[in-house]
Amino acid sequence: EQARSLGAYNGTCTTSDGHRVPLLANVGGGSDARKAAEAGAEGVGLLRTEFCFLDRDTEPTVAEQSAAYREVFDAFPHGKVVVRTLDAGADKPLPFLTDATEPNPALGVRGYRTELVTPGVVDRQLKAIAEASDGATTDIWVMAPMISTAEEARRFAESCAAAGLQTPGVMVEVPSAALTARTILQRVDFVSIGTNDLTQYVMAADRQLGPLAALNDPWQPAVLQLIRSTVAGAGAARSEAGPDGADAGRKSVGVCGEAAADPALAVVLVGLGVDSLSMSSRALAAVAAVIGSVSTAEARELAERALAAPTALEARAAVRAGLPILE
Ligand code: PEP
Ligand code: MG
Repeated sequence: EQARSLGAYNGTCTTSDGHRVPLLANVGGGSDARKAAEAGAEGVGLLRTEFCFLDRDTEPTVAEQSAAYREVFDAFPHGKVVVRTLDAGADKPLPFLTDATEPNPALGVRGYRTELVTPGVVDRQLKAIAEASDGATTDIWVMAPMISTAEEARRFAESCAAAGLQTPGVMVEVPSAALTARTILQRVDFVSIGTNDLTQYVMAADRQLGPLAALNDPWQPAVLQLIRSTVAGAGAARSEAGPDGADAGRKSVGVCGEAAADPALAVVLVGLGVDSLSMSSRALAAVAAVIGSVSTAEARELAERALAAPTALEARAAVRAGLPILE
C-alpha cells in the first residue's frame, strides 16, 4: 500500500545528494526473478535456492539444479545475482537433507552446516551453479548461509574457487559472524546480513512465534549494534585489502533480511554504511522513494538517532519523525 502511494520504482535508487544504493530482489526461483526484473530490481540479492526444491525427497541432480539457476540468471542478463547455497533446516526443512528429529532445529544442522552430515552437497551445488553460469552474462556471486566462524568462510571460499566460481561471500545471520566480520571478510569478498535470523539469534527468540514478535524486531538496539559492527569490520577488511580488494564492490555489505524492506529502517541501513539492499519486489518503490528523500548526511544522522534509542519502539519513532515523506 505504501509502495503504491509512493509511486513506481524506476530502477535507480539514490539519496538526494546522489549516492547510489543498488536495490536488489529476494527471489525463490525463475518466475519470481522475472517478476523482480519487471518491477525494476537491479538484480537478485538473495536467491533462496532451497525454495526451488522444497517438494523433493531426493537431492536434485546437478543438471536439475543448473536448469533452475539458469532461469534466474536469464532474468538478469546485465545484472548481478547472488546465489545462496541451500539453507535447509529449521524453518525451511528439506526432506532430503533435514533430520526431523533434532531437538533444536534452529541451533542444529542448518545452512552451511549441512556439509558436516551430508559431505559433498555444497560442492555439487557449486558445480551446478558453475554449469549454469557457462555462457551467462550475469554477474554471479555465491554465498553460504548460517556461517558462524571465519574458518567456515575460508572453507566455503576454497570450495567456490575449486568450482571455478568467483566472488564468494557469506551471510551474517549469527551474532558471532557480525562480531568477527573483519576476519570473515579477510577470507571472502562480501557479506550479506540476514536480519531475520540475526534478530532471532541475538534476541534468542524463535522467528516463527507470534507472541515473541516484539523481541523479533530488527529495530532492537542489539540488532542495530551488530549491523554497525559488521559494517565496521568490513571497513577494516577493505582498507587492509587495498585498492584491488575494494574493486567492484568487494568487501561489501548488503542486507537481505526483511529489515531492508522497511523504508525507515532502509534509511538507517544506508546511514550505517550498508552498500546495497535486497528485498521482496513489492517493497522496491517505497524504499527507493524514502531513501531518495534524504541526503547521505541525513541518513547518517538518522542512524545515530536509531542507535541512541534505548528501545526498538523509540528507535523507530525517532527515525520516522525525521522522515516527513512518511507523514
Ligand atoms: C535472513 O535470515 O534474514 C534471510 C534473509 O534468510 P532467510 O529469511 O531465508 O532465513
Ligand atoms: Mg536466514
